[in-house]
Amino acid sequence: TPFAALGLSPALLRALSETGYTTPTPIQAQAIPFALQGRDLLGAAQTGTGKTAAFGLPLLQQLARDTPAKGPRKPRALVLVPTRELAVQVADSLKAYGRHLRVNVTMVFGGVGMQPQIDNLRRGVDVLVACPGRLLDHLDSGHAKLDAVELLVLDEADRMLDMGFLPSIKRVLARVPQQRQTMMFSATFEPRIRALAMELLKNPAEVQV
Ligand code: AMP
Repeated sequence: TPFAALGLSPALLRALSETGYTTPTPIQAQAIPFALQGRDLLGAAQTGTGKTAAFGLPLLQQLARDTPAKGPRKPRALVLVPTRELAVQVADSLKAYGRHLRVNVTMVFGGVGMQPQIDNLRRGVDVLVACPGRLLDHLDSGHAKLDAVELLVLDEADRMLDMGFLPSIKRVLARVPQQRQTMMFSATFEPRIRALAMELLKNPAEVQV
């Protein structure tokens, strides 16, 4: 299947061919059509399978569909990740895929100063890629607002649970509107992941590679 058959927009198709992607990976071929329909998604996929584009391309397409509000923008998509390294990787990929769209991607993670992140949040954000702990700091201090989030992604959910982020994730999610599309990725569908999925996802499509 070529990417065009999955229903992706010309701006994304152009970015993909410029990035050198010719064919969707299996997780992309399975997940993208469901995600573009607005379905919630539970995906079992390891790093290296192309899962970032599997959630990132539909996410960007859904955001680009609506004209962003004028002025400093609040995040309409939130991607939660376990580590700074993954935050950087995901943000870089989203920027590459969204290069022909007017979508601003910003990151927050711990271990570095707050102020540059606060400045970035003030400038306006469409997609926020965040580690849960630092995101809570920005929420508590009023610098991050999640009331405009329409799309939520939990990437490497199993690793986030391993790292003890469940309480932080729950506190973050209490600030995200119920009315939203949610996509969750994990290496496996172990019981604790199923339990979290039951809590967060509505009638999810399941994809496995
Ligand atoms: P990920 O699993 O999202 O971390 O992606 C793993 C690697 O595969 C990254 O280096 C991506 O740039 C690359 N990649 C993702 N999708 C494709 C594709 N359809 N064709 C070629 N490379 C891809």
